[in-house]
Amino acid sequence: LGTVVTDKSSGRLSRRAVLALAGTTAALPASAALRPLRPAKPANLPLVFLDPGHGGKDPGAIGVSGTFEKQIAFSAAQELARQLRSSGRYRVVMSRDDDVFIPLEGRVVMAQSQGAALFMSIHADALTDHTVRGASVYTLAAHASDQQTAALAVRENAADRFAGPNLGGTSPEIAAILGSLVQRETRTGSARMARAVVASLRGNVELLTSPARRAAFVVLKSTQIPSVLVEMGFMSNPLDEAALRQSAHRTVLAQALHRAIDGYFG
Ligand SMILES: [Zn+2]
Repeated sequence: LGTVVTDKSSGRLSRRAVLALAGTTAALPASAALRPLRPAKPANLPLVFLDPGHGGKDPGAIGVSGTFEKQIAFSAAQELARQLRSSGRYRVVMSRDDDVFIPLEGRVVMAQSQGAALFMSIHADALTDHTVRGASVYTLAAHASDQQTAALAVRENAADRFAGPNLGGTSPEIAAILGSLVQRETRTGSARMARAVVASLRGNVELLTSPARRAAFVVLKSTQIPSVLVEMGFMSNPLDEAALRQSAHRTVLAQALHRAIDGYFG
């Protein structure tokens, strides 16, 4: 950690520093790697950390008509960020402001170092069964709530294969240990946020059956920040892919997530 350069005026980690850190966190105790340095600013407003999935050399899922998940996730996160900022009730930080690759652990480290009050990762993944469609929301658990969710977590966690040989993703054993480290308040907050998201999406967009699910997603392992991962739909389903390509549909999704965030902090 001694070699990581921070911005002295704010104590924040630069994106470059986070990328460097992400390569070393495996060897450090979670508490050492993930402790926030200092609140980013006098925190009058809660900081919502939005994490559009994938980016750069990692396209994420590729839809049935060729759409990249990384672009859909980014556009939806940008719309949600715009809505949250214009409400004047939140500060918003995005894990990426453009089409760049960020390792999964780097996303968590960045949220911790910024002092985020809520972490929301935004995705639209794919399954081999192209008939499956609908939005869903995930919280961390050592063991997946069902087979379909286990397959999704394997796919999402595999994003780090793009990071090179030193970041090979997290094994199921490590994920289980990390899951047990998550503090009870954090777990309770994550579960409350997941319920708010499902309630807010219901009636506005197609939902997956049993839309609140649990699995060992690497990006949900923050010990201190309530964290959820939203799958807005499946790129592998033609109806979902077509909807997610439309900005009007992404606006409806963002409005629902905005209401869920209002409910969570309200
Ligand atoms: Zn994804």
